[in-house]
Amino acid sequence: MIASPARSSYHTVVVGAGIIGLYTAYHLAHAGAGPILVLDRGFLSGGASGRNGGGVRQQWETPATIRLARESVAAYRRFGREFGYNIWFRQSGYVFVAEDEGQLARLRRVNAVVRGEGLVSRVIDAAEVLRLVPGIRPDAIIGGTYLRTDGILYPFPALWGLYEAVRALGVEVLLGAEVTGIHAPGGRVAAVETSLGRIATEHCVNAAGGWSGELSRRAGLDVPNVATRHEILATEPLKPFLDPMVVRVSDGLYFSQTMRGEVVGGIAPSTTLATRLGMGSSLDFLARMSRGLVGLFPQFRSLRVLRAWSGYYDDTPDGFPVIGTDARLPGFVHANGFGGHGFMLAPASAQRVARAVLGEPSDLDPHLFGPQRFSEPGRALPTERLQLG
Ligand SMILES: Cc1cc2nc3c(=O)[nH]c(=O)nc-3n(C[C@H](O)[C@H](O)[C@H](O)COP(=O)(O)OP(=O)(O)OC[C@H]3O[C@@H](n4cnc5c(N)ncnc54)[C@H](O)[C@@H]3O)c2cc1C
Repeated sequence: MIASPARSSYHTVVVGAGIIGLYTAYHLAHAGAGPILVLDRGFLSGGASGRNGGGVRQQWETPATIRLARESVAAYRRFGREFGYNIWFRQSGYVFVAEDEGQLARLRRVNAVVRGEGLVSRVIDAAEVLRLVPGIRPDAIIGGTYLRTDGILYPFPALWGLYEAVRALGVEVLLGAEVTGIHAPGGRVAAVETSLGRIATEHCVNAAGGWSGELSRRAGLDVPNVATRHEILATEPLKPFLDPMVVRVSDGLYFSQTMRGEVVGGIAPSTTLATRLGMGSSLDFLARMSRGLVGLFPQFRSLRVLRAWSGYYDDTPDGFPVIGTDARLPGFVHANGFGGHGFMLAPASAQRVARAVLGEPSDLDPHLFGPQRFSEPGRALPTERLQLG
């Protein structure tokens, strides 16, 4: 049976108990705001936060994204101490690999931006790729970039740790409860309509992941967020051989090895996959992923796939997330549009979401992250294009 909210009115209702919603609730509660209610129509980890590759990288094309990622890495480093859960965060690096000079030139440019932010990424030659990724076919790559402080974590204990922490701080989390609309009689948020009835609040945080566009539209807001389905698989375990996450620039093939030995990874879809296909797996993906992996590691030819699944990215046209209050509907705060990288940006981004709820000034450039940016007339679009891995 689904529990009922303990109160009829809350300071903030957060929609979505994924990594973004839970981290936002944590930052709010930590700042002393309350009472706070988190609602999720599914189960804990049912969204993308329980379906991802666990990659955490700071190699990005724009300084603004790098700063959020770097701050998030620092938060994940202290996660065990702060929340008492081991998220198995291994800072064993990310290697981006290039197959031709054009791709390497692009990685060189990324490397310059990353180094400009004080992170010691390096352009590496084929021999060093081979050292970091033993067994990779030498003639399949010409070089790449490497940042040792990037890494991989295990997403589930991050969710469990946050779930426990927010509840210990007095946040109510109700699973199996859907937000069906926003009640805004005076042009600002006054309540959320839910499957449990109307709940009064002045602040609604849209942390609904791949369904954020749907929720915004339920609030009467036109937003460009699009949900796309992305597939991923895990193989049978192999003896540990691979430390870093590996990403191929040409087709977004990415893979890492878990501490249990499984190779986990995905590849950019051949076409945009509609979400109506659910969260299963397709033969097309299995075939492309197998070809990609065996092309790099011929010895994987007989490796068996144990599991394959999918989840939704919440994509924006410029590749930046949407963070902040929507001026068209005061009280409605966006915490969405994280594409395939919300886990690695969550701690720092959610901190900014909490500040927006509390009416505090933001250090984020509104032209990059603000909800209004899509309607700026004649906007020359800056973009975050390193949407790989
Ligand atoms: C295959 C795959 C691989 C990925 N790999 C990585 C990676 O390596 N590194 C990385 O950083 N990111 C990765 N991502 C992206 C990352 O998982 C997401 O960006 C992140 O988890 C988004 O978190 P969220 O809290 O915004 O959304 P979610 O975790 O999707 O949570 C949203 C929640 O909102 C709930 N909800 C929606 N609508 C309503 C409603 N109306 N009422 C109540 N509840 C509602 C849903 O039930 C859901 O639980 C990957 C994603 C996928 C699919």
